Amino acid sequence: MSKIVIAGPCSVESREQLREVTALLATMPEVTMIRAGVWKPRTRPGGFEGLGEPALRWMQELAAEYGVAYCCEVARPEHVELCQQYGIRTVWIGARTTGNPFMVDELCSALRDSGMAVMVKNPTSPDVRLWLGAIERLQQVGIQSITAVHRGFSMYNTRGYRNAPLWEMALELRRELPGVPILCDPSHIGGQRELVEPIALTARMLDYDGLMVEVHPHPDAALTDAGQQLDPDQLRRLLDSFLIPSTATPTDSDHRLTPLRQQIDDVDHELLSLLARRMELSRSIAAIKHEHDIAVYQSKRWSDVMDDRLQLAGSLGLDADFIKDILEKIHAESVRVQLES
Ligand code: PEP
Ligand code: MN
Repeated sequence: MSKIVIAGPCSVESREQLREVTALLATMPEVTMIRAGVWKPRTRPGGFEGLGEPALRWMQELAAEYGVAYCCEVARPEHVELCQQYGIRTVWIGARTTGNPFMVDELCSALRDSGMAVMVKNPTSPDVRLWLGAIERLQQVGIQSITAVHRGFSMYNTRGYRNAPLWEMALELRRELPGVPILCDPSHIGGQRELVEPIALTARMLDYDGLMVEVHPHPDAALTDAGQQLDPDQLRRLLDSFLIPSTATPTDSDHRLTPLRQQIDDVDHELLSLLARRMELSRSIAAIKHEHDIAVYQSKRWSDVMDDRLQLAGSLGLDADFIKDILEKIHAESVRVQLES
């Protein structure tokens, strides 16, 4: 399947800006649709909040003139009605809205029977259930075309990103909703131009269905998100690297992947048998603890176990954080089993 590319400015700023960016993007056949924010959710008051209805009027005019389609964010039922009025057929629900089930419900009522396609950004908080929930609400009102957009999560420590990618959250969403295509929004994850391409290439390696990326004819002068918007040449280079088709033929790669996948299956089965054995041992220990009225949780023993395993993990070349997470989960389960036995 060919990749979806949604590109365009963070916000519509003027008729001239919209015309300039549209004229450029209309020459790129890889660009599926142009994004352009009309109502801008601002974290703090006082910034540029979007132009509203006049922007929609220019979009309608330019869509006819250049033969392109636009999409924009909707946050209220009135936005949906205005989009319909001006011929916008695709909208997205922004990160701040996805996290609010009341607002999602209101949008669902407005979108029902509209025939519109809807994209759903992940919520700002790292809770995959809110993202799933918003998509399920749209499915329940019969929206036929739904696409997820991964734009990263607000967190205390985003490790250099504007919004932490937490790729595993997006993988979980895809496992739960395998039929829903997913786009990566590297602009809002990265927050800086230099990070857009590496993030997009990670999405390529994770087989995302495409990108939603911010592009502005003069990014440094942009009224919103100036630091993260690409100029048209940067978009060209990004698409050249993101859209390279994979060189492997299926038979070639299958031939080499199948035996290795078989070994992975065997290792996983072994891991599960070992975990079952570990829980059995834990139950035997629980019986002795209960008999002698010894507390289930022994902090000294647990910290010795952790130190020993982390040292071993280091010598085996395993990532310490990864092993710590796994050991904490195993230990928590062991405590649960002992309390219940
Ligand atoms: C945007 O796409 O410009 C935007 C505001 O996105 P988000 O909802 O991901 O913050
Ligand atoms: Mn933006």
